[in-house]
Amino acid sequence: MAHRSESDSRSLLRRLRDTLATSGGGQDRLDRITHLIADSMRTEVCSIYLFRDPETLELCATEGLKPEAVHQTRMRLGEGLVGRVARTGAPVNTGDAPAAPGFRYMPETGEEIYSSFLGVPIQRVGEKLGVLVVQSKQAREYSEDEVYGLEVVAMVLAEMTELGAFTAEGNGIGSTHRFPVMFRGATGQEGAAEGRVWLHEPRVVVTNPVADDPEVEAERLRVAVEGLQAEIDSMLAGAAAMDKEHRQVLETYKMLAHSRGWLRRMTEDVGLGLSAEAAVEKEQSTARARLEQSPDPYLRERLNDLDDLSNRLLRQLTGQGRDTGAALPENPVLVARNIGPGELLEYGRALKGVVLEEGSVGSHAAIVARALSIPLVIHAGRIVTEALNGDPILVDGDQGVVHLRPEETVAAAFRDKIAMQAEAQKRYADLRGLPATDRAGATVSLMMNAGLMADLPSLVNSGADGVGLFRTELQFLTRTRVPRRDELAALYKRVLTAAQGKRVQFRTLDIGSDKVLPYMKPQDEPNPAMGWRAIRVGLDKPGVLRMQLQALIRAAEGGPLSVMFPFIAAPDEFHAAHAALLHERDREASLGRPVPSELRVGAMLETPSLAFAPESFFRACDFISIGGNDLKQFFFAADRENERVRRRYDTLDTAFLSFLEGIILRCRASNTQLSFCGEDAGRPVEALTFAALGIRTLSMRPASIGPVKHLIRRADLGELRTVIERARADGAQSLRPAVTGYLASL
Ligand code: PEP
Ligand code: MG
Repeated sequence: MAHRSESDSRSLLRRLRDTLATSGGGQDRLDRITHLIADSMRTEVCSIYLFRDPETLELCATEGLKPEAVHQTRMRLGEGLVGRVARTGAPVNTGDAPAAPGFRYMPETGEEIYSSFLGVPIQRVGEKLGVLVVQSKQAREYSEDEVYGLEVVAMVLAEMTELGAFTAEGNGIGSTHRFPVMFRGATGQEGAAEGRVWLHEPRVVVTNPVADDPEVEAERLRVAVEGLQAEIDSMLAGAAAMDKEHRQVLETYKMLAHSRGWLRRMTEDVGLGLSAEAAVEKEQSTARARLEQSPDPYLRERLNDLDDLSNRLLRQLTGQGRDTGAALPENPVLVARNIGPGELLEYGRALKGVVLEEGSVGSHAAIVARALSIPLVIHAGRIVTEALNGDPILVDGDQGVVHLRPEETVAAAFRDKIAMQAEAQKRYADLRGLPATDRAGATVSLMMNAGLMADLPSLVNSGADGVGLFRTELQFLTRTRVPRRDELAALYKRVLTAAQGKRVQFRTLDIGSDKVLPYMKPQDEPNPAMGWRAIRVGLDKPGVLRMQLQALIRAAEGGPLSVMFPFIAAPDEFHAAHAALLHERDREASLGRPVPSELRVGAMLETPSLAFAPESFFRACDFISIGGNDLKQFFFAADRENERVRRRYDTLDTAFLSFLEGIILRCRASNTQLSFCGEDAGRPVEALTFAALGIRTLSMRPASIGPVKHLIRRADLGELRTVIERARADGAQSLRPAVTGYLASL
């Protein structure tokens, strides 16, 4: 291969682009392209290998190797030099191929006479498409310029592949990104859904990988980078009120956006004939391939920053916003890195499922997804890079698994599962009017958790006895300012009207920890879950709490009202909040307004300390509701949002259940009503166990009411209690085997 000039490179890229405009099938184009590249680079061999399936590469076109090897020669990912290029995403350059580590002899190709080998990956933003190879007889390593030139050519091939240039009926070529991929994440909300991908932030579509005028492209690039820098500066300027982590991400962006090396490499790409957009993608792909190989998890995490920044730069270049003009597909499944609760609410029930790369079970988005009963999988690897708008997708919220572009057999099995669930739901619907009474006649009251107006039809559909937990913070989280008192009063009144006399237990604002209001100054706390949150905020800054209590009293319009205070850790907090409520009630009365005919005031037991509070506290509460999500995290000292530790401790652990039993006994002794409203109340096995221990009111997401009721009606709570006691006496650490064993015997 002789020295090649920039103008050689540009003329090759233009000739490659022209093949796009020619008629003829994908194979025809590939053949012409290998010929063009070999000719322009003055090498004897040029071959294109593309993926057949995620593990197999196939020789799809060649100039110089034996033509009969085309579509015959295949290698596995990592096998031979070609397989090595594909696996590492990095070039292999050698003057003595047979002596290179990993070389594999392919007799059918006739390649043994070629000594030097240069292979570069054909990849696009982390998506591996194939390998481009040149070979010559002369034994020499290729120069850096030559390697670089071939990478630029490979980038154009990647864009052409993406545009479908090589796809021909039945050959599977160029449709590599159509492979099925499975993601193992975590459950955010149970349920199963089948639909089509809808990317929250779709990738920018690059339609022209080759530039006509490099100077114009270089100028476009320069202007776009300046625009990007300004965009980040203004984000940083508005970041004063942001949390530390967010600021740090922006600082990293700023550093990357000002990186001279980045701009220089892209300008060089453009000099060799790439369009500015293709240059951005080329550098993104190269950096990705490098970072992915890194053993350093911090560096691997920077992949997301890099993608985000490159996308922003592409938007600067193309003017494409989030709205690409594409229409929401039927049965849309939202795929995003992360999403805020407000944005999720905007999509509302139109969505069939949600898949996030990040997120956490206790996050706002998860709470909204749960409120909307949309299956949610979080921590789904790199799905945003893999998924394309419109791809078929299956979301298994129960297992925390996602199948992107599934095989038909997987899709069929999944449909069976959905059908079975629908069948079961129908059966549960038949139970709607029946009580959750066990075989021996003991009845459990099943209530539902809610937080949105959209939840209220479920009150009728699910057969819930009322709303055991109304999370009032959702109205605060999804707005840009504190809602006004009359707005809140109107909303609470609509809730009470929809409840048609069934009890609704309103929980006052539970913010802080992960629930950060967009319009409230975030607190820089080392341990926000144990920080300034919930009732602590309410008591320290009583303005909002008072306004909310007034709104609740007004909404009751003289009828009964139930209010509970979140995260009470010591009796004085409850007494202070209780006093504030009575104060507001008396104030309303003094203004001549109606006051609730019955005022029930409760505390949420979410910290172990409260279980040991004096008797007088229990007597002062009309009811106590166990917030199991928080209680469990503090009992086991295991962050409910940390997927690594969250599942480590079982709700049916003997220690936790014995602790719950203590609370049950104390409530019984003081005649205080007790309910359980954490997520565990909606899990049939857990729910049944709580009921057997003596918790007779459970509040759960509406979709769980049917399954829980079904199980209670089949069981005998007294029998189960005996089974539990026996296992406990035997010294079991977990009571789960005993409980599931009992269920299996039913
Ligand atoms: C809980 O902690 O169990 C609870 C119901 O409250 P939240 O999940 O909103 O913190
Ligand atoms: Mg809680």
